[in-house]
Order: sequence, then structure tokens, then C-alpha cells
Amino acid sequence: MRSLVLIGHGSHLNGESAGAVYRYAELIRGRGLYDEVVEGYWKEEPSLRQVLKTTRSTDVTVIPMFISEGYFTETVIPRELGLGHQGPVAPEGVARVLGGKTVRYTLPYGVHPGMSDVILARAREALPDLNPADTALIVLGHGTTRNENSNRVIYQNAERLRASGQFAQVEALFLDEDPKVGTWPQVVTAPRVVVVPFFASEGWHTLETIPEDMGLTGDVTEFPGNPGGPQTVYYAKPVGTHAAVADVVLHLAEEARGASPHGGDEDRGHAQAWAAFLELARRGTRVGEALVFPQAGMFELRHALDEGRPAPDLTTVVTPEGLRDLARFDEGGHHRPVHTFRTLPRGWRAVVSEEDLPRAMHNLYPAVVEEGYAHHTHSLRATPWPTTARRQTGIYARVTRATPEQVEEVARDVCSRCLKTRLWAGEKLGCTFFAGVPGAIPCPEACTYFVAEMREEVSGKRGGAGGHSHDH
Ligand code: SF4
Repeated sequence: MRSLVLIGHGSHLNGESAGAVYRYAELIRGRGLYDEVVEGYWKEEPSLRQVLKTTRSTDVTVIPMFISEGYFTETVIPRELGLGHQGPVAPEGVARVLGGKTVRYTLPYGVHPGMSDVILARAREALPDLNPADTALIVLGHGTTRNENSNRVIYQNAERLRASGQFAQVEALFLDEDPKVGTWPQVVTAPRVVVVPFFASEGWHTLETIPEDMGLTGDVTEFPGNPGGPQTVYYAKPVGTHAAVADVVLHLAEEARGASPHGGDEDRGHAQAWAAFLELARRGTRVGEALVFPQAGMFELRHALDEGRPAPDLTTVVTPEGLRDLARFDEGGHHRPVHTFRTLPRGWRAVVSEEDLPRAMHNLYPAVVEEGYAHHTHSLRATPWPTTARRQTGIYARVTRATPEQVEEVARDVCSRCLKTRLWAGEKLGCTFFAGVPGAIPCPEACTYFVAEMREEVSGKRGGAGGHSHDH
């Protein structure tokens, strides 16, 4: 049994940021090579601290879904997963045994040599009859002084594509450093020029900055008066959104298996938690604001306040992902950064198979079954606030300065909106929903939303109750 975990940045403020990771998870699930494909986020749930708990197997490969190495891939993700590793990741990845699971952490997909194929695929989309006789390729990177590896990747891709002999000329140019993108008419002389942005997604840079710096007016732009003669530029879509990235991810995952200490198998603790939960679900149970009950050989989930409402009055979804998309927004359409906030919308029903029930529950309340069962069986360990605070780095490191009064002040605002009981602050929870109390859900460790709000508090930026954090 094998689990693949894809890690994205996510956002506390809006629901769109996680979309690309969802799509790749879906594509890879469709290939059927892994028993499960799970998503985790720095700024959304399931959080990095929860995500390993939600995996069924003891053989877990974790891929950071980032275009380049940097602070998140080298510092935040390894720290939050508890890998005991900081800094650059070796090409073969980092392998650790954590809580009985073999966890392999890889480089981000963007540095894999397979990205040259993705660049080529994007170039061919923009100019299907590209030809070594008259076509130049520009691989366009962001360029930054913060991580020299991000530039190196652009040069390496340019080098590989030059060696492939499919272009008259291949050059690496950058937005923020030399050689700058605006110099392209001096750098490339071929009459046809394909430009492929080495960016994670479509955004301000690909839609505004690059076209502006290059003088582009659309997907194809003619430059009749260039110094070396007339040129036509074909502007491709960014590499990070191409479906072939799913192949790169699978290559990375397979290569990381070389670092495997042993083959995996089912996680017994996880299996026990789910066996116990299935028992409850077969009889019908309530977890937080949701009901879970058997329905014609399947399981149905709905808001507890919709109990007894006729099915035609409710929107029906039949996949765990359909439920995820519903549970991410409240009834006013606002993003729900913490899934256990008491804002689960009403008006829906999800009908899923027994096999899909764990994924459906994770999309509704990430890691709640695992943590609830661990508390029920007295094996859940809480992480006190000072430990969580000390673990923070970068702009979050200042949360260690928070006074106990400030922690309580933020908890009064943030955690009072949440179903969970703060074990991390010493609060007691005598039983859980496993013993029939729907709202009894443990919180063993402050969530990233709480940490972000604490940072605002110690920076003096919280505007009292309902203040919202920045999203860095
Ligand atoms: S820290 Fe507070 S808001 Fe975050 S999950 Fe725990 S109880 Fe809920």
C-alpha cells in the first residue's frame, strides 16, 4: 500500500490558491498507481501538521508542488512535517521513519529534469510546426537573488533543450535580473521566437509583466522592424499548469523510492481509527455539524440541521471532491480557513461509497477521525503553544514574544468560532464524538490560522474581534 502526498501553499484568505494542486491530485488519482493521493497545505486544511496522520499506508511519498526551491520547500514544509531536516534537499530526497511511517520527501517538481519536456510541450502548443531552421526558444524565469538554484534550473532547461537540436537557438532570460526579458530582440535573431514562461501558474507576471516587457499584444505578435529583421513571437502558457506536470510528479515519486528503507504496508493505528469510525457510521453518527449515516449500501453526509429534509431539496454531490468544494465556503460564500469553524453551510448531501468515506471526511474535517480516535484511546499528544511558537521561522518567529494574555485574547476571538477544544492550552476534553458527543473534537496543536492571527496580534495589526491575517 502506498500513499502520495502533494503539498501546496494554499491561502487563509481565498479558496482559489489550492486549485492547481487539486487538479494534479485528480489526474494522478486517475492513473491508479497509488492507493491514495492526499493534498496538504501550509495555509489551508489539511495542514502540513495533519496531513501525515490522514495517510492510510506506512509508505508515504511527499512532493512539494512548487516550481522552485526556496523557503517553503527547504524550511517550512520539512519543519512542519517533522522531518528533522532543514535546508537544501538532496536529489534523491530525504527519507525518515515518522510515527511508524516511512516518509520520503522530494525536491519540488519544478527542478526535475522532466520539466524540459513540459517546456517543449508548451512550445509546441504555441507553435506546432516549430523548426530548427528558423525557430528560437526563450525559457523565461522570474530570477531572484534569494535562491540561486531557481536561476540554475532555468539555465539547465535551456541547456538540455539546446542539446536536443530542435531549435535554432535557445536562451534563458529573466524578469528580475540579467539577462532581462526586454533585451530579447538583441539576444535572439531567428525569425520565429517561442517564449515559454517557467512559472507555476497564470497570474500577474504572465498576464501583465512579461507581455509588457516584451511588447507582446497577444498569443502571436509581429515585430516587422526589429534590428536583425522581422520577427514573430509566439507566447506560450506557463509550464506549471500543463497536465504533463503530473508525469513529472510521478517520476519524482518513483525516484524517491530508491531511498526506501523498507516496503510499506497499512498503518495499523490509522486502520483501527477508521474501523472504529465505520462502526459508528454504519449506525449513523454526528461529527461536529455533520451527520454521517448509511444509505442504500453507501454513506450519506449532510448538515445536522438538514436532518429529515427531503433529498430533492438538497444539492447532491457524489464524490469526496464535490464535498470538499462545498465545505470550503460558508453560506455567504466566504472562504473557511479552518474547517472546524461552526460555519458549515447547509443545503447539501454527499453520497459516497465506503471506500470514499475517509476522503470525504478529510475534506469535511481533516484528520478529525484520526485525532479523535487517538484522544478516545488516550494516545493523542498535545503540543503546548510555546513549542508551536518556537517552531516558527521567518516572519512568524515573532509570535514567541506573545504574552499569555495575547494568546488568550486571540483564542477568544478565533477559537471560539471553532468546534475544537484546545488541548494545547490545557483545556480538558473528557470524551469525543467516538463516545457520542458530536462537538467533542480535540485540538492538539494551534493551527496555522491561529499562528497567523497571533503574528498580527504581536505586530499590533489586529483590529480587534474579527481581524484577519495577512497571507504570507
Ligand atoms: S487553534 Fe483554535 S481555531 Fe485553530 S483548530 Fe485549534 S481550536 Fe480551532
